[in-house]
Amino acid sequence: MSEKKEKISAIKGMNDILPADAPLWELFENTAESVLKSYGYQKIVTPIVEETGLFARAIGAVTDIVEKEMYSFTDAMNGDLLTLRPEGTAGVVRAVVEHNMAYDGPKRLWYKGPMFRHERPQRGRYRQFFQFGAEAIGFSGPDIDAELIMLCRRLWDDIGLDEIRLELNSIGNADERQRHRADLIAYFEANIDVLDAEAKRRLHANPLRILDTKNPAMQDLVNAAPQLLSYLGEESLAHFEGLKKILDAANVQYTVNPRLVRGLDYYNRTVFEWVTDALGAQGTVCAGGRYDPLIETFGGKPTPGIGFAMGIERLIELMKAQGEPAAPGQCDVYMVHQGDEARMKAFILAERIRDAGLDVVLHCATPAGAGSFKSQMKKADASGAAFAVIIGEDEVAKDEVAVKSLRAAQGENAQQATVAFGAAVDYLVDQIVGGGGEHDCGPDCDDHHHVHRP
Ligand code: ATP
Ligand code: MG
Repeated sequence: MSEKKEKISAIKGMNDILPADAPLWELFENTAESVLKSYGYQKIVTPIVEETGLFARAIGAVTDIVEKEMYSFTDAMNGDLLTLRPEGTAGVVRAVVEHNMAYDGPKRLWYKGPMFRHERPQRGRYRQFFQFGAEAIGFSGPDIDAELIMLCRRLWDDIGLDEIRLELNSIGNADERQRHRADLIAYFEANIDVLDAEAKRRLHANPLRILDTKNPAMQDLVNAAPQLLSYLGEESLAHFEGLKKILDAANVQYTVNPRLVRGLDYYNRTVFEWVTDALGAQGTVCAGGRYDPLIETFGGKPTPGIGFAMGIERLIELMKAQGEPAAPGQCDVYMVHQGDEARMKAFILAERIRDAGLDVVLHCATPAGAGSFKSQMKKADASGAAFAVIIGEDEVAKDEVAVKSLRAAQGENAQQATVAFGAAVDYLVDQIVGGGGEHDCGPDCDDHHHVHRP
């Protein structure tokens, strides 16, 4: 007898996405991708591991992420300092510069994937989490800012999320922030007793970030602090006004939140967050901002940029909170069979049904055996399939199959038909898709194999 082995668990703060949740993720991802496509954004995929120095440069050394949240390690083979990406903008901007992607004009890009931050795990805050993000490189006007915001609104609408509001601010340019910073430091120094340890530490390194504090004892202080908005010059103000004008015209609701900041040197002008009250403390589902000076710091030609990133776990939570309907079944047809010959025929028929574009689950043996007819039918019912196709010894002898509707009312009238083996595919396509399944999908459709469900 072998000893029972100890179980291994996933790493703290890193989640499995189980099949029960997968359809919700799929719905979110498919909707997001089609919205991004409808605005002309193109997919980009960058590595999950990058040189550590990339993130210090792109995110800023005096930030939560770089100071304490990065999964950094030394490559045991060659001593390189590497980091699991904590966010997506750095890799995208690196790729844009490395491949000189902006040489022939501006680019609209999107990405998705896992990010890693060593944070204290809690609801809505994990150590591996997924982001969907967009970056628009090479556009300078407020129109692209508005486009990115409206793209998010369309995504919320398409998914049916209605408890998300928009907060907006402008953080001007480096000179404007410099003047504000001096006054801000003076203000905080005059109120040094109220600052917590973290705020004191940040006072000279990154005082803007203090405005972002979640410490309730400091709220009155930061609310009365000098506001960056009143330090903005003409150009920054014109950009901000331009953005608000487009949003007003497009009927996008927002509130200006003067405390909304990104505490980094190369973020500028527009910053925005989509926030919900339905998720408790971790209520920001999407954050974005302009970073015009960033590409130059990567050795590229001066090129403006703006982007956002949304946290998919938080959005999935919100979908659940708003009662997103349960996912449809896993297949159209479940194949039930009894006996060796029947199993061979079931294999062949299942392939033909799939050729016709339907989804088929074929019953397969488990350690408990092939399963009685009754237990196979139970599995068929649980699968969510519309039909069970049944092949037993009788059916083999007559070269037929039995097709049972699993969604018809139970009882005497439960629909069951006997169909010639060679006619089974057409019969199922007709029943499930209707009208034979050969639809005219128009010139855009290059898939002649699939069936189009009505
Ligand atoms: P927070 O203030 O909540 O820490 P952040 O400013 O660090 O957020 P960003 O770097 O702007 O977040 O990331 C964009 C979005 O990614 C966030 O608004 C959030 O939805 C999501 N996100 C960030 N960190 C996590 C995490 N640890 N777990 C889950 N989602 C996250
Ligand atoms: Mg954070």
